[in-house]
Amino acid sequence: MARIKAAPLAIKAAEYRTAPPPAKMPDPFYSSTAWRALMADIIAQRGRCCEDPDCSKPDRGRGGRIFGDHIVELRDGGAPLDPRNIMLRCGACHTRKTAAARGKRMAARY
Ligand SMILES: [Zn+2]
Repeated sequence: MARIKAAPLAIKAAEYRTAPPPAKMPDPFYSSTAWRALMADIIAQRGRCCEDPDCSKPDRGRGGRIFGDHIVELRDGGAPLDPRNIMLRCGACHTRKTAAARGKRMAARY
């Protein structure tokens, strides 16, 4: 009588996320001279602090690390070098806004 071989274990770790985050690709735009120069201008004009109306950092993170954040993101068709499309945000606000924008984008797919 032939022995029945045990089936190979075919259970893999399940992926429960319905919208896994896209792979992080550093955008060469953010290391361009034009972007860096614009950021230096904006920070010189507005001060190095978070402009997000929902910012909860003391003193709006003044003097700390500040990100130039596109109000309408580039992948959503926002103007890359228009200061009116750029809001200075601290790390916490930047992360919160980026996650919210991604959520919206994902939701719009369905
Ligand atoms: Zn902030």
